Amino acid sequence: MNMKKIMSLVAASAFAVFALAGCGGDNGAGKAEAPKVLKVGSSIDFPPFEFQDEGQKEYQGFDMDLIRAIAKEMGRDVEIQNLGFDGLIPALQGKSIDLAISGMTINDERKANVRFSEPYYQSGLTMVVREDETAITRFADLKGKKVAVQIGTTSAAEVKKIDGVEITELNTPADCFMELKARGVDAVVNDRPVNDYFITKNAAKGVKTLEEKLTAEDYGIAINKDNEKLQNDVNAALKKLKENGEYDKIYAKWFGAKK
Ligand code: GLN
Repeated sequence: MNMKKIMSLVAASAFAVFALAGCGGDNGAGKAEAPKVLKVGSSIDFPPFEFQDEGQKEYQGFDMDLIRAIAKEMGRDVEIQNLGFDGLIPALQGKSIDLAISGMTINDERKANVRFSEPYYQSGLTMVVREDETAITRFADLKGKKVAVQIGTTSAAEVKKIDGVEITELNTPADCFMELKARGVDAVVNDRPVNDYFITKNAAKGVKTLEEKLTAEDYGIAINKDNEKLQNDVNAALKKLKENGEYDKIYAKWFGAKK
């Protein structure tokens, strides 16, 4: 047991004695301070940020490594729940999870419902089309075309702003790519690093990504609106990991050395 764990145990038992003495004002039920396990929600369908390889128990990816490192820094264990991307904010609001890490873009609409950590990854939206596609070379060409996006995402919101696009909202990016290959849609709009990973790591045949970026977006860890303490703790842990090189190590593992 490391020093930090010992200290937090000492703090927790001191608090329990306090609460039992009636000072907690909760009839001596002795509610523990912060529960040890950090309940994390993620939509495990977004490689290389969160995914599960066949036959593997553990969830993998950049976000998974990062949140485990953050929790370790905070002296907490993690329990990761796989939820649909559009179910993450409702789960935070319902408090069935403490935080969500899921390649989630920080934006004002979401900020009305949840808190965000400091940004931890710079992303943006790009487009994937079939290799033989000639009519679509940029976003402006999408007018009159069929586009698949993941439901509840910034891609869905952004593509809706383009005039005359026929949108299909599916549950996962993998479903979108499948639809593209099956010629059910003409393009997929999705986060750049996920598109790139799909093309290179899966040796995806018959599709290509286009250069143009529709948006620049920052990912943040989403936290219940009432939980300012957790937001502060997560930010402090993230800062530490950036300072001590741990963040860079995790980054390099999934994306190569930073340019
Ligand atoms: N970054 C996008 C968003 O926040 C997509 C996230 C995801 O599908 N996991 O909407």
